[in-house]
Amino acid sequence: MRNDHIFYVQGREPDPYEIRVKLNPLSISCTCAAAMNGTPCKHRIQLLNGNPENVVAFTAGSNEAISSIIETARNNGVMELLAEFDAAGKAEKNAGIANEKAFRSYRNEIRRRVLGETKTDKSITKATTKLNESTDKWIEAYAIKEQLRKSLHDTVFSGGSWHEQNT
Ligand SMILES: [Zn+2]
Repeated sequence: MRNDHIFYVQGREPDPYEIRVKLNPLSISCTCAAAMNGTPCKHRIQLLNGNPENVVAFTAGSNEAISSIIETARNNGVMELLAEFDAAGKAEKNAGIANEKAFRSYRNEIRRRVLGETKTDKSITKATTKLNESTDKWIEAYAIKEQLRKSLHDTVFSGGSWHEQNT
């Protein structure tokens, strides 16, 4: 079985991105900007999810290659890590939304106080506590997501390192 595979994936840029896969040890690089910034980009995640929708010049051989990549990823615990990363991303997004909501409430309580709609600082204090709590939650969720991103990047999703060594 071949140890390395190259795919071209049509993304937002006119030229397709190049995804290079090495099976042993598993390493997947992509030439897109997100990958260069250390993010497990959607092009590689799509490939690992067996979704070849955007692969350019897809052949029966590509199908076979994707199957062996998925199998290798499964055996290496990569799929679990990706699922965790996906969940962490959603949790971070929700925590961020809650944080923004808490910030709007906090500002609203200040506005109400200034307009004399509230007579004491009690509701501002309450909103401040909620804002601080939601900020802590967001920071925590962000840190978890970042840790998983780093784990993926340091193992299989090495942005461009393998790429640079071999071109
Ligand atoms: Zn990419």
